Amino acid sequence: MVQLKQQTYGAYIQDCYGVDGEGELTDFMARKGGDLILGGRLNLSELARGYGAPLEVVYTPQITAQVTRMGAWAEQARLRSEYPGRFLYAYATKANFAAEAVQTALRAGAHYETSAAADVIIAHSLFRQGQLPDDRLICCNGSKEPNYIDAIRGLRLDGCEGVVPVLDDLDELEALIDTPLPLRFGVRERAAGNRDGRHPGNDRFGLSIDEIEAVAARLAGTRHELAVYHAMIGSQVEDEAHFLATLRDSVLGYCRLRRLVPSLRYFNFGGGIPTTGYRLGFRFDYAGFLTRLMATIRETCAAYDVPAPDLIGEFGRYTVATHSVYLLEVGATKPGQPGQPDWYLVNGSMMVSLPDSILVEGQEFVILPLSGWDRPVKPVRLAGRRTCDSDDVYPRPGCAPLMLPDSGAGLILAICGVGAYQQMISGRGGAHHCLSPEPGRVIVSEEDGRLVSRYVPQQDQVTIMRLLGYQPQPVPAPLIFDRPAREPMPFRAAAGPARRRISLRQPRLLRQVATGD
Ligand SMILES: *Cc1c(COP(=O)(O)O)cnc(C)c1O
Repeated sequence: MVQLKQQTYGAYIQDCYGVDGEGELTDFMARKGGDLILGGRLNLSELARGYGAPLEVVYTPQITAQVTRMGAWAEQARLRSEYPGRFLYAYATKANFAAEAVQTALRAGAHYETSAAADVIIAHSLFRQGQLPDDRLICCNGSKEPNYIDAIRGLRLDGCEGVVPVLDDLDELEALIDTPLPLRFGVRERAAGNRDGRHPGNDRFGLSIDEIEAVAARLAGTRHELAVYHAMIGSQVEDEAHFLATLRDSVLGYCRLRRLVPSLRYFNFGGGIPTTGYRLGFRFDYAGFLTRLMATIRETCAAYDVPAPDLIGEFGRYTVATHSVYLLEVGATKPGQPGQPDWYLVNGSMMVSLPDSILVEGQEFVILPLSGWDRPVKPVRLAGRRTCDSDDVYPRPGCAPLMLPDSGAGLILAICGVGAYQQMISGRGGAHHCLSPEPGRVIVSEEDGRLVSRYVPQQDQVTIMRLLGYQPQPVPAPLIFDRPAREPMPFRAAAGPARRRISLRQPRLLRQVATGD
């Protein structure tokens, strides 16, 4: 430690990660002439000089680069493993629904993976505008409420052949089977979700083998077909050998099912491909992973005497984590308690801007100083100066402190890897994770001894789309959030705006007031 105190930040980085203070730091960030450069072209130091901090920088060409690179690695992998099938890159939009992120991924050639009704309606709108071309698949995952089912059906009936409901429950099949146009279905293998015991939350998705066979039997002889076998094992899976070993059983599952179901022709491994945005020095051999996965699939299919499928990956984090960066400025230093690192009080909030820092145990982000690389390095913790919340600190208590230059006030930090999930979970602008609409609200107060209520309707689709930067287009799908949650109550007599009023069981006590937001 004594020696560390003398060491400069630049030398520390060199020692720990083998990267110089000049040139590439990661596969998305470099340092040139003392400035930090994102994606080889965007000068963050200059942006900080121009706009100051706090600032969120959104650099969409990085998304294009991520999609394009993966396409090239997959092509390499296909050649090396002599894989006969195609590789399809899908963007898992729940990682970042912002219009610029989704539209950039689509322009780079990505297919589309949805997680919610509102998501399908956005896809529908993009389909109508020609931004989501006919040749793209739209894989619809997750448990499907009636409005999600309606949105899928609406998209198919509007002529979109690429929409693939991936069944999470047998009821979903029953709800969709009378769709008058042929649908391609997928099944999600439940066993994959928590096969390794590391992802208990994943255990709720998908179907058992028996249920998958029931789907195949139910679809036989209908106008529909079973086309996709979906098996997702986790997210940010950094251990390649583990990733492959865990998927192997799902490949077997595919082959067995393919023997029964000749229409099956896609194997979809879902998400899990890691981003490099969370830890300096983290590397993942993307091309090697795909080569070994394709070789495994090819060999297993040969052993089962079935054709190798087209391979689909649904890339969430990998696509968008690195395209955005927060710049935060240290406003003051506060000494730590004896033996503890100092606090760097920053002009923002980790809780607000990086919610995974408190939600996901051990979640890290690459954090780089814009200046001070020749200053002595020292251990610090960041604290959000704009909140009075003791949880607004990074790294979390119990995790090792950050090593940063000792410059203190005025130091600007680039917090990288924030482009996936963070904005959605923090509800930036008012759109939320998986676009979950804010529920209606009844606000009841007392006036002159009487209870008075005010009702704010549930957030609607048009609002959500505007918040994300889309120009909502009318689609022929049903107005999904207008569906009453329950049977109309006695007082709901009027049509039109009054439908939004609440009905209360004690109308004498509570006066109804309909309001917009
Ligand atoms: C969230 C999700 C993804 C994306 O996962 P990442 O690990 O962020 O790539 C892909 N597929 C499904 C079904 C998902 O739920």
